[in-house]
Amino acid sequence: MNYAYEAPVSQELFDRAAVVTPGGVNSPVRAFRAVGGTPRFMVSGSGPYLTDADGREYVDLVCSWGPMILGHAHPEVIAAVQAAVARGTSFGTPGEGEVALAEAMVARVEPLEQVRLVSSGTEATMSAIRLARGFTGRAKVVKFAGCYHGHVDALLVAAGSGVATFGLPDTPGVTGAQAGDTIVLPYNDLDAVRRAFAAHPGEIACVITEASPGNMGVVPPGEGFNAGLRQLCTDNGALLVSDEVMTGFRVGPAGWYGIDGVRPDLMTFGKVMGGGFPAAAFGGRAEVMALLAPAGPVYQAGTLSGNPVATAAGLAQLRLLDAAAYAAVDAVSAEIRGLVTEALTKEGVAHRVQVAGNMFSVFFTDQEVRDFDDARKQEAYRFTGFFHAMLAQGVYLPPSAFESWFVSTAHDERAVARIAAALPAAARAAAEARA
Ligand code: PLP
Repeated sequence: MNYAYEAPVSQELFDRAAVVTPGGVNSPVRAFRAVGGTPRFMVSGSGPYLTDADGREYVDLVCSWGPMILGHAHPEVIAAVQAAVARGTSFGTPGEGEVALAEAMVARVEPLEQVRLVSSGTEATMSAIRLARGFTGRAKVVKFAGCYHGHVDALLVAAGSGVATFGLPDTPGVTGAQAGDTIVLPYNDLDAVRRAFAAHPGEIACVITEASPGNMGVVPPGEGFNAGLRQLCTDNGALLVSDEVMTGFRVGPAGWYGIDGVRPDLMTFGKVMGGGFPAAAFGGRAEVMALLAPAGPVYQAGTLSGNPVATAAGLAQLRLLDAAAYAAVDAVSAEIRGLVTEALTKEGVAHRVQVAGNMFSVFFTDQEVRDFDDARKQEAYRFTGFFHAMLAQGVYLPPSAFESWFVSTAHDERAVARIAAALPAAARAAAEARA
């Protein structure tokens, strides 16, 4: 497709990258394959804005896929990072920063009695599953189609995020043995979970679910779904693992747990708690966490786990996230959602804006999206036109119709005005798009 703008420096960097890195990127969805065109190589970020290598500024509605909830280069986060860096970048010993971050998390999220810090959301879910298997002595794991829990072998079955974007059913390199104990069920379908427990009595170690999915677009749990999972897990001696890597500390001080109050056995975190650095965590009931090495026999470790710079960034960010900060993010999210709906409605484009706290995404369909099959029925080709029109006018959206949009406390009136100004042309592009 020929887009009416260019990004020559990004293109040159992308060409160089393609020589030394598969597909030119270090995480697939960054490559723009779902929407076409040249991925923008960003050189700096400030508040709600990103600047690319060609010197163009964008209002950022990706926020590094969630973490940058205070916007880019927040002065207090940067100061905390600079102070930590000046003291040294990694010691491979315990340090106070990791204790303080764990305390801050435990204080905010009531079911979190203990946490173990790791470096990525993938590591968090991988370790939580190992722990659930170790605790129950069972092998099988239930996951939901369209939920993404990182690129853990056992969980890369009918996954969301990049896997959904590219329509990959599974991935080569994951063996039957690794995926064979994974049971994939449709999201929001408690009867399917009931049937799975009946078909595999005493075999299911855990049910893992995104607390509120954001990796097939935003598809919140239906009324009573998470509570139903809780009950079925309890009734069948399985653990409930709530993946809050995306929602944790983003949709509120206690994440999605703070919204629906359903108490999991284990939880996973990442993104916001790392302040833009590689920090993630899993945690939950002390009785279960007690099985982790060195307290117990389930092994788990990491050279950079609890890294002092990452924990300083995460802690600074969490401390700034008070009620006023969440109210500001919620308000700007609502304002942008309203503008999107107004623009698309004006052009007669069938769409649904689905919301989970301050996370939202736009599906190009007029039907409610309750699971991955519904999400895939949308007219995703309309998103391509919409995306490129927004990009050309300086608004950076996730380059996929299957991802949440993210906003921050830094999205002020000026940023919102720029989004508002870009929307009419983007809505027109969506209306004119052809499959
Ligand atoms: N779980 C969820 C819900 C996620 O959204 C993601 C990443 O997007 C992950 C796990 C994996 O986290 P990471 O990319 O840090 O490995």
